[in-house]
Amino acid sequence: MDTKYIFVTGGVVSSLGKGIISSSLARLLLSRGYSVTIQKFDPYINIDPGTLNPYEHGECYVTVDGHEADLDLGHYERFTDIPTTRANNVTTGRIYQSVIDKERRGDYLGKTVQIIPHITDEIKENVKLLGQTGKFDFVITEIGGTVGDIESTPFLEAMRQLKWELGKNALSIHLTYVPYLKAAKELKTKPTQHSVKQLQAIGIQPDILILRTEKDIPQQMRRKVAQFCNVAPEAVIQSVDASSIYQVPLMMHEQGLDELVIRMTDAPFRRLPDLSGWNDYLRRRDNAKNEINIALVGKYVELQDAYKSIAESLMHAGVYSGRKVNLKYISSENLTDENVGNTLKGMAGVLIAPGFGQRGIEGKFTALKWARENDVPTFGICLGMQCMVIEYARNVAGLQDANSAEMDPDAPFKVIDIMEDQKNIAKMGGTMRLGAYECDLAEDSLAARAYGKTSISERHRHRYEFNEAYRKRLEEAGLRCVGENPQTGLVEVVEVPALRWFVGTQYHPEYQSTVLHPHPLFMSFLEAAIDYEKEIN
Ligand code: GLN
Repeated sequence: MDTKYIFVTGGVVSSLGKGIISSSLARLLLSRGYSVTIQKFDPYINIDPGTLNPYEHGECYVTVDGHEADLDLGHYERFTDIPTTRANNVTTGRIYQSVIDKERRGDYLGKTVQIIPHITDEIKENVKLLGQTGKFDFVITEIGGTVGDIESTPFLEAMRQLKWELGKNALSIHLTYVPYLKAAKELKTKPTQHSVKQLQAIGIQPDILILRTEKDIPQQMRRKVAQFCNVAPEAVIQSVDASSIYQVPLMMHEQGLDELVIRMTDAPFRRLPDLSGWNDYLRRRDNAKNEINIALVGKYVELQDAYKSIAESLMHAGVYSGRKVNLKYISSENLTDENVGNTLKGMAGVLIAPGFGQRGIEGKFTALKWARENDVPTFGICLGMQCMVIEYARNVAGLQDANSAEMDPDAPFKVIDIMEDQKNIAKMGGTMRLGAYECDLAEDSLAARAYGKTSISERHRHRYEFNEAYRKRLEEAGLRCVGENPQTGLVEVVEVPALRWFVGTQYHPEYQSTVLHPHPLFMSFLEAAIDYEKEIN
């Protein structure tokens, strides 16, 4: 079949959940036997979100091919089980960079380079890139930002042109907000009407409207929206706040979104939807009522999007272990030797978060020391793993003031050091060790047991690394290096076998946990936490 291009735009306000709607539609189309990919176009000028701090942009997600991406790509993968790549996330910065490179090469020789047609053509090419691989029946393109933003305008113009050129093979879904005015006890559709008018003014007629709302929108009100916005009545769909984002595919399916998309794009029928795996997850989730306390020790605790994939991974593992994870975000900056016991009391597991820089680092050591001494199941991820090594070096292996070269370049024992090939890198953007690398696990390790195999591949995002020079000393002291990169010998996983579950990974397992396939290490961590909980209760 021809590739169908679905565009998802947002209106009225941001944060309506375009990523969740795109992911939900993808899940539904997959369940009907189509191949689908989702891509996100972000209107900001940064080349990628890699250099953005989490306060600006939440978590930075990493694709298998080493692209630092918007966190929506995490949703795409968790919903669809299909890995994304660099092609799935394009920013204004990348579009301009490519156009400017072409201009310097002389590709436009003699021409004035302009937003229209050069920038818009570049956007159009990028929109079609994945479709042209022939691998996908549907390419869902989420346009970041809100209609009316200056920055999104070139993207919308490119979308307008594509819609015109592609005819039935393109479809526009516009997600808007219907606020409920408490004082008037009324839902208001005017902002939606205005937002659609704004789209129409730039030449885009939405085919489907999805109205985000806190309250059920009556049929007759939806009909009114349809009438005012030139949209078929059955194509006005509501997206009521749900208790879980994973409920949204079913809510969309009940209102016929998938059928509508198939009909409107003339896609050939493949099969009836099979949502059994998805329903099974939701059923388990509903049944998993018993809570389990897990602490996440990090420095961005007031901003939960900073640890999105970790929180999701823990939740997935919880659901499959029959437990509802009660994730306690603990600010590492506030942890001291005096308060750590009280703060972490009752936690069945402690996870030490990834991160960069000095802030909050000592609190991570404090948490690790306490968790180690009390034999609490502990999971260190990336910086968390590095902290595990440092704390062990300082307090068990007798390497006083051991540190990472990142935190203290003059530390007497740099048990975590800058990687050789990172030493001469001056540019910050996109230069870390990024993306998926293979790792061999020691057969008798806890990690190998958890994965059920010894050869794995996981995604990385870091500049610093376990320092081989201290391996022997640390191993003699009881910290085992159980995972290694087969090509470079870099240490990727450490464990303390004398403890019940004390594992650190240089890589980020959280990028690979999905609704249908929870991550084995998170599963193993939760099992250990569940066992340990019996002891503390
Ligand atoms: N700051 C550490 C490094 O660059 C860890 C990075 C991370 O946790 N993602 O090596």
